[in-house]
Amino acid sequence: MDYDVIFIGAGIAGLIAALEQVSNKQKVLLLEQHNISGGQLSSFVRGRFEFDTAFFPFGSYGSAYNIGDLQELFKKLGIASNIEMAESNEFLRVISTDQDYVDYTLPVGIENYIDKMEEHVPGSRNSMVIFFDLAREIKEAVNYLSANNYKVNFKILKKRFGNFVRVASYNVKDVLYAIEMPHKAQRILTAYWIYLGLPNSLMSFVQFALTMLSYVEYGPVMAKNSSYDISLTLEEQLRKSGGIIKHNAKVANILISDGAVSGVKLTNNRIYKARKIVSNVALSKVSEEMLEVSQSPIVSEVPVQAINVYLGLNRSKEELGIKDFQSVIYHNLDNEVEYEKMHSLDNDTIVVLCPNKINPTCSPSGTTILDISSLYFGQCFGENLTSQEYYNLKDQLALKLIDRYEEVTGIKIKDYIEEIEVATPVTYAHYTSSYDGTIYNNPTDYDTFLKNLLNRNGDVLGLYYCGGDSSLGSGYLGAFFSGDEVSWIIPQEEGVNSNAQD
Ligand SMILES: Cc1cc2nc3c(=O)[nH]c(=O)nc-3n(C[C@H](O)[C@H](O)[C@H](O)COP(=O)(O)OP(=O)(O)OC[C@H]3O[C@@H](n4cnc5c(N)ncnc54)[C@H](O)[C@@H]3O)c2cc1C
Repeated sequence: MDYDVIFIGAGIAGLIAALEQVSNKQKVLLLEQHNISGGQLSSFVRGRFEFDTAFFPFGSYGSAYNIGDLQELFKKLGIASNIEMAESNEFLRVISTDQDYVDYTLPVGIENYIDKMEEHVPGSRNSMVIFFDLAREIKEAVNYLSANNYKVNFKILKKRFGNFVRVASYNVKDVLYAIEMPHKAQRILTAYWIYLGLPNSLMSFVQFALTMLSYVEYGPVMAKNSSYDISLTLEEQLRKSGGIIKHNAKVANILISDGAVSGVKLTNNRIYKARKIVSNVALSKVSEEMLEVSQSPIVSEVPVQAINVYLGLNRSKEELGIKDFQSVIYHNLDNEVEYEKMHSLDNDTIVVLCPNKINPTCSPSGTTILDISSLYFGQCFGENLTSQEYYNLKDQLALKLIDRYEEVTGIKIKDYIEEIEVATPVTYAHYTSSYDGTIYNNPTDYDTFLKNLLNRNGDVLGLYYCGGDSSLGSGYLGAFFSGDEVSWIIPQEEGVNSNAQD
């Protein structure tokens, strides 16, 4: 064997998983198709602006005084002190423009959040307290499951985490009704649904509760030198620890002998051998394109696709009048209705992020970065377009999102655009190889989420998965923590070839 473990894909999950294996004295090779690491956590430069590809803040990190699980993980990996974070004390501004007009800014901190909700929806306090208590118990239960490698005695689980067992297989809608949360409070609380890509009737309560806890308890943070800094720091740490990374190395096939993995073949026909392979590439891609044997595919029926408008504005946020860090602008706070509408390109529900609000030096003095995005569910992005039609569609959608922002906030930005870049599912499919250009990999509904969480076994011996498409759920938290989990999910043996040279 050439290596103990081969990793396919240098997204954050692949980088973390590889780093953990090197620390376990395994001989590691990480193969990345592109010429840089980071996958979706990367950045690009236009003129004097550096844009995060995936402009979104992390939860679960916290501050120096309130350390979250993600910060603990960064400390364990030895990267926390190399990455400076900017913190926000505001969680989210929620606007809905239909007849039930709403415009609320929700704070960080569970007590503050509950107080603010009680102000907006008198009588909601009790159910909000129950919600966050449940969320805390779910977090403890998931930590317990993970610490026991998901092999647990159900009786013990039930005894210690009875409420977790009670709600684990339910959707958000059912649980919020069961705890008698007032209707309006439900709508405001679940305004964050768009980031998870599923409405209340499909979203796992466990996943939603964990996500809300991670943001409300610890607040959103962003890396001061762009999210790409995280990927670069992980890469540097991996190299320093002896891991080998090869860029421009696209895996074409995972090789199988006698039902177990034996190595990988690149598109240039180069073969590398190992008995353990960890894929940071979406399961559906692996199953459809890389495996010669059948593997249960996990393909999202409704991929989450996005149009993202990255703007470099030549005025300061004060000059422009921008006051918010993160806003969602809906027509309707009923997410079942919005979700249906978002199956069409006609929708103009937007998510807006201004990193300058928490990180004034993220762009040159006197300028502002603004990211406006909209999500689309299902494959509505238009197939079989000519290149001219594709560019026209991009322009048209970008203009629509900017118009919607200007119209709702009253803030004029069009005259101050110095740089603009528009990304579509085609862009994301090209750069990340995600299935259908989806940005959240594979959002799992409430039924699948629990099954995936408890079933870690793949069909092919020696093949493991990590990433935002793995069993910990879609998105960056799933990516970070599933990367970490690989170290105890795959069996550890003596390094087979620890002195071998590449
Ligand atoms: C615009 C945008 C907004 C987002 N917003 C949010 C959000 O608000 N909340 C949230 O939780 N998440 C969000 N995400 C998703 C989050 O960024 C991802 O879930 C996470 O970064 C995925 O990391 P990963 O390591 O699993 O995979 P990726 O980052 O997808 O990495 C996979 C890597 O594998 C490489 N690869 C693919 N095929 C091959 C091959 N054949 N051979 C070799 N290498 C290969 C790719 O090039 C890539 O580097 C967003 C993403 C985007 C793009």
